[in-house]
Amino acid sequence: MHDHSLEVHGCNHHDATGAISTPIYLSATFRHPGFKQSTGYDYGRVANPTRDELEATLTLLEQGGRSWAVSSGMAAINLVFLLFNAGDHVLLSEDLYGGTVRLANDVYSQYGIEFEYIDTSDFELVASHVKANTCAIFIETPSNPMMYISDIRRLAGLAHAHDALLIVDNTFLSPHCQKPLPLGADIVVHSGTKYLCGHNDIIAGFVTVKEKDSAIAEKIEFFVKSEGPNMSAMDAWLMLRSIKTLGIRVERQEANALQIAKWLRTQPRVTQVYYPGLPEHPGYALQKSQATGFGGMLSFKVESAALAQALLGRLKLISFAESLGGVESLLTYPLVQTHAEMPPELLQRTGLDDTLLRLSVGIEDVTDIIDDLDQALNGQSEEVCK
Ligand SMILES: *Cc1c(COP(=O)(O)O)cnc(C)c1O
Repeated sequence: MHDHSLEVHGCNHHDATGAISTPIYLSATFRHPGFKQSTGYDYGRVANPTRDELEATLTLLEQGGRSWAVSSGMAAINLVFLLFNAGDHVLLSEDLYGGTVRLANDVYSQYGIEFEYIDTSDFELVASHVKANTCAIFIETPSNPMMYISDIRRLAGLAHAHDALLIVDNTFLSPHCQKPLPLGADIVVHSGTKYLCGHNDIIAGFVTVKEKDSAIAEKIEFFVKSEGPNMSAMDAWLMLRSIKTLGIRVERQEANALQIAKWLRTQPRVTQVYYPGLPEHPGYALQKSQATGFGGMLSFKVESAALAQALLGRLKLISFAESLGGVESLLTYPLVQTHAEMPPELLQRTGLDDTLLRLSVGIEDVTDIIDDLDQALNGQSEEVCK
């Protein structure tokens, strides 16, 4: 079946009532029919029918083997980091979500795990940095916020040649645009808070692994049971409801993003536009070869930090806020928001500076988004509108 249909119908497990909308099973525990008997549900930390439906749906969308729905994107990334052991070396994209850098540098490195950040869009560079103890390559593609594109197929081949895992944070594109597992990745993680939810109303995360009964799946299942990061039944239901419209939201966001990127390119006060859907983007061909879309995220630089900062206060329709992927357009100032945790040398290497703005394009009418950017960018008034 095709993605739009899978998103609407999910795995289609109707209960005995035939309810079209999956019921919200608000039960912490489940009654056993008799000694050594189970309905398949014993205790809510281990399994819940609403969450199961969501997890099965995500597995279908990512074409994976098994998924876990958890309370945040960081909880999902934490589950994956728990697979690492003291003495392991992990290579990561240098242009990464700031929270992931914090989890690596300030939490896991104290347990003897070595994290090294490199430009994973440069395949030869990654190949030359793999060591005997490299256990994983962790990438975001497109990267955040500079939109570098990494080659999922080749990096999977490289990782497997060294008995390492390729882990992809697929938050920026969602499974509607990109499916890293069939391209060779071993694990996909998501901040479900972003495109999968799409309405800026819940914090959620997902882990999906390639094979259902693999050693990795067993370990993650054990970590989930032991640490209890699971998503609540209520949030799982909201998520199921959100995913029904994933495709139409993402396609609209992408169409808007392309028009906005083209408009930004014509603006004299904009010095650089980063959107992989523009043919001049260095990752354009690679992105086309491994994804079915370019997504709704773009970044741009303006002529000065003062302009970048003044512009944020003049926005009317677009909100100056962190996060991304929702139906509302949001503009972020990565240096002080999402990437405040980034060490200065990484910022310098990736080109993230005080003139950079990141736009998460919403589903509004694109002319209204462009009008708002126009007045904020080219307006003279320093008056704060919001
Ligand atoms: C937001 C985000 C995360 C963290 O997810 P939360 O749901 O906020 O915990 C991880 N990776 C990327 C790419 C993100 O954008």
